[in-house]
Amino acid sequence: MVSLRSKIILSMILMSFVGIALTALTARNLMVQRFNELGRDPLAESFMIEVIAYYSEYGSWEAALAAESHIEFVIRKRETGELPPPVLTPEDQPPALWTEGDGVLLFGPPAGPMGLPGGQRFGGTRPPRPPAGSEPTLPPPPFLVLDTEGRAMLSPIPGLEGELVPEVRLEDTIPVEYSGQVIGYLYSDARAALNRQHRLHLVAINDSWWITLLVVVGLSIPIGIIFGNRLGASIDRLDRAIRAMQPGALKQNVPVSSSDELGHLSASFNQMSADLSNAYEELENSRQLMEEMSLQDPLTQLPNRRSFDESTNLVLTQAYRHNRPCVLAMIDIDRFKLINDNYSHATGDRVLKLLADLLRANLREVDILARYGGEEFLVLFPETDLSEAYKLMERLRETVAEHQWNDIDECLRITLSAGLVEVDINDTSSNTLAKAFNAADKKLYLAKDNGRNRTEC
Ligand code: GH3
Ligand code: MG
Ligand code: MG
Repeated sequence: MVSLRSKIILSMILMSFVGIALTALTARNLMVQRFNELGRDPLAESFMIEVIAYYSEYGSWEAALAAESHIEFVIRKRETGELPPPVLTPEDQPPALWTEGDGVLLFGPPAGPMGLPGGQRFGGTRPPRPPAGSEPTLPPPPFLVLDTEGRAMLSPIPGLEGELVPEVRLEDTIPVEYSGQVIGYLYSDARAALNRQHRLHLVAINDSWWITLLVVVGLSIPIGIIFGNRLGASIDRLDRAIRAMQPGALKQNVPVSSSDELGHLSASFNQMSADLSNAYEELENSRQLMEEMSLQDPLTQLPNRRSFDESTNLVLTQAYRHNRPCVLAMIDIDRFKLINDNYSHATGDRVLKLLADLLRANLREVDILARYGGEEFLVLFPETDLSEAYKLMERLRETVAEHQWNDIDECLRITLSAGLVEVDINDTSSNTLAKAFNAADKKLYLAKDNGRNRTEC
């Protein structure tokens, strides 16, 4: 499977290649076009002056052509200073005006090694090369000039003179005007007219364009990888954070390193993770609360019977393991029904609650106290033998008996009866505690029978 990161990198590199190629092509074409304009305009301008001078000298194309060729006229007039010197020196002239081989003439230079565009194609035949050492032939006119009927009057391609040139559209030409009248049309092919300096500039710019293109393409790969990795890293971090989310570790944080969609996604994820974590915490707290409530007696806040069983099991396991004695006490309030009857049920409740506090305060930290039900309580004395537990229970009983219940009634006295039994730590069966309960219950009844406010063991 191709990872998202690889896809991002690939698409970034592809996109930069396409972008660079399009920009480069457009820029290069614009550059060549601009250079052509730069070369064409001055040459066309000076040629136009020469053409008008040539026409005006004789009054018509026919008369002018019959008298002398355009170039002979120009050379003559330049010598007398009536026409300015040429814009292009002979060495600035395009290197060739035709292609080798197929005999098809080019109006302008052929495509050069540096990618200069080739010339406009016209039908025509290649003139014979002058024999070596002969007088150099006069250069042809640099542009095509048509008369008002579209026939070639001056042509850079020998043999076109007098011919209709339907390939040239009049809208691509510049009208040649003399005395307010259009006397013909000048067809300036831009590509014929770059001078030597322009050509050198174009070559230099062309070369640097290629180098820039190579550098940009070379850079786009590492840049694509770096940016792709950065984007991919944000997604990786999100992916890792989502995988790490689990009960207890729902709060995951990813760095928000940008303000784009990925940044928003990261921020939303952080928010969602925090909300989820808070909701989970609240749920966990309520669960704990419910669990505590299920293990706690709501009136006295003491552990209930279920909680007592769980805690006792742990203590008994330790007792079995370390062979330590352990005593169970069952405590019952004496004549509690009378309190309800004499005062009220609410007062009875209050007594139960206050008594629970009193018992808690007078027991050791290790002792396990629980409300068994009604007005009965349980205490487990860990690592305590029967005589020690008896002393502890008696002290507790006396404390309660002597306690002043001034908040309720100064005359009120509460006494307890208790039955104690040592848990048989050698009995590892599951009903050890049940047996201890039965035994403690019997002792409690004994205490009641023996007059209450006493401890039996
Ligand atoms: P004895 O000395 O034999 O134990 O006498 P007693 O009156 O304490 O025993 P008995 O079992 O006859 O009555 C227990 C009373 O405890 C009856 C019941 O109304 C009361 N009682 C049990 N649970 C609660 C409670 O949660 N609140 C109140 N106010 N009274 C309770
Ligand atoms: Mg009772
Ligand atoms: Mg009782």
